[in-house]
Amino acid sequence: MIIATAGHVDHGKTTLIQALTGIDTDRLPEEKARGLSIDLGYAYSELSDGSLVGFVDVPGHARFIGNMLAGVAGIDAGLLVVAVDDGPMPQTLEHLAILDLLGVNQGVVALTKTDRAPPERIAEVMTETQALLAPTSLSGAQIIETAALAGIGITELDQALQSLEPSESRDEGAFRLAVDRVFTLRGVGLIATGTVFSGRLKVGDELLISPAGLPVAARGLHAQNRPAETAGTGTRCAINLVGRHAGEKNLKRGDWLVGEDAHLPSNRIDALVQLAIGEDDPIRHDTPVHVHIGAADIPGRIALLESRRLSPGETALAQLVLDREVTCVHGDRLILRDQTARRTLAGGRVIDPLGAVRGRARPERRAWLLAMAETEPATALSRLLAETSDPVALDLFWRRRNTTQKALSTHLVDLNMVQADGYAISPNHWQAWREAVPVALARVHAEAPDRIGLDLRELRHTANLPEAMARPLLAELMTEGAIVFRFGAYRLPGHQPKPTVADAALWAEVLPHLGDRDHPAPVLHEIAKVLDREPSELLSILERVGRLGLAIRVSRNRFLLPETTIALARAVDELAAVKGTDGFTVADFRDFAGIGRNLAIEVLEFLDRQRMTRRNGAVRTIVMSADRVFGSIET
Ligand code: GDP
Ligand code: MG
Repeated sequence: MIIATAGHVDHGKTTLIQALTGIDTDRLPEEKARGLSIDLGYAYSELSDGSLVGFVDVPGHARFIGNMLAGVAGIDAGLLVVAVDDGPMPQTLEHLAILDLLGVNQGVVALTKTDRAPPERIAEVMTETQALLAPTSLSGAQIIETAALAGIGITELDQALQSLEPSESRDEGAFRLAVDRVFTLRGVGLIATGTVFSGRLKVGDELLISPAGLPVAARGLHAQNRPAETAGTGTRCAINLVGRHAGEKNLKRGDWLVGEDAHLPSNRIDALVQLAIGEDDPIRHDTPVHVHIGAADIPGRIALLESRRLSPGETALAQLVLDREVTCVHGDRLILRDQTARRTLAGGRVIDPLGAVRGRARPERRAWLLAMAETEPATALSRLLAETSDPVALDLFWRRRNTTQKALSTHLVDLNMVQADGYAISPNHWQAWREAVPVALARVHAEAPDRIGLDLRELRHTANLPEAMARPLLAELMTEGAIVFRFGAYRLPGHQPKPTVADAALWAEVLPHLGDRDHPAPVLHEIAKVLDREPSELLSILERVGRLGLAIRVSRNRFLLPETTIALARAVDELAAVKGTDGFTVADFRDFAGIGRNLAIEVLEFLDRQRMTRRNGAVRTIVMSADRVFGSIET
């Protein structure tokens, strides 16, 4: 459980934390000299049940709101402090607005310095404060009267704090800690402290400094100020980091320490943003802002995705285009301050940590974002499937939301979806695509009867198939016999391109000389000699029937029948399986296939060009299987 103070400068926040915990959080010499909190202070106190509450004491001065924001990211509850002599002041309002915009809905209010005001004044401030809380996420919070220096109200305050509930634990996601302090301890090494947003860390775990992506390891850790073997969500944690990159130059406030799956660096964040109710004017598209996310403060611009303006109190989709990369996940809260960092403008919630680079405001993209905005992952996924037509990349879906599939598998059983190659789609869309393919092929066959068919790219384009799931979709149609794939071309099974009447006689004459698997065709000139024809005459008809898919030109001088070529390609598959990772030579293939050396070379060079094989010196290896490259021979 982590509780942060909030309230105007000099209203008694630090004094109150000291009264509650015995710890003076103003630790910097400058803070001591000026009697003013500048940076975040930390204190811990034990509850009667033995659990520990971590306090983050924030500075109240307007100049240090940036530090305040770094301290309140990831907290469970707020302790709002209002001195009864002053009553609510500007940073009382701003801190309250920030807690509200961050969605912090648990808290206690302390009226301080009650020794300095008469009862009527205390009652007045009480009423004023209740009115301020009413429209916020802290409405109805308990208000306790205190005079910390005299020890009055501290027990009551302590009790009120104990009744707060830690926010819902998200131990199941990847580990994420928002770094707020980095220092080097002599004899120990680099220490990073911060709030654990999700997941669990064990001593010895590997982590990434994000967004930089530098690997480090956790050699030791403290959770809530005590040595620990593990640390979980909602604790403050100090980690002793080791590894080549574990240096102060690589890590600063605003960075994250994350498990690999939560490393999602991006400088475009798609978010739902709400302009503060207290703002006087609408915010315009492309306004420069400071984006506070986790403990980070990054300059950038806000691109409004739904209209050119956002009015006070209004919520809309926006893309935050940042000057440098950050790392975040779906659901993270963020605060926008104005360009000069003087005013809190808006709050928001990350919808997609990997914002769209192109087409960010297109209607389909906005529909995707609104579906993704659902807080329940299973609901979001089912809306994505139902309302958008792009296949959902499942791995990225879980990573964007920092939720493991395991945690969701119970919901997923109920979800009606087709899964293939790591993508998911609604059965309706899948069926629509299944139907689109034969229709597209029939149209192409009618328009170009002498064409064998379409290659993958052409078919995807013609039938409007998504890149992600095209192969599994076509594989399903092939298995069912609805379409045929041969030599890089998809076609309907009934489509048999025929040579023109003019070519038919000569083709009938040439065909028997193209041989078969055991007696593959000789080179062109030899066939020409046997037939007593000009080689050029033969070449031109073979090129024409080649376009129909009836013969394959494996080299400049040789055409083989498709069946022969596929059979030889399969022999390469078998040979490669025998040879394993060592690969095979031309001589290996010649012997294995029982063909001549020249033909062996020609076939292998042909397969290199088809990207079925790859040559490295004298040795070749397989890149793709023969069936994958050429399709299977239909019976
Ligand atoms: P912060 O800026 O909100 O952290 O305020 P501090 O805790 O630093 O307190 C500011 C000043 O108010 C200090 O001089 C405190 O001694 C004084 N102060 C804090 N609490 C009380 C209180 O309950 N009664 C009185 N009389 N003075 C207080
Ligand atoms: Mg203070």
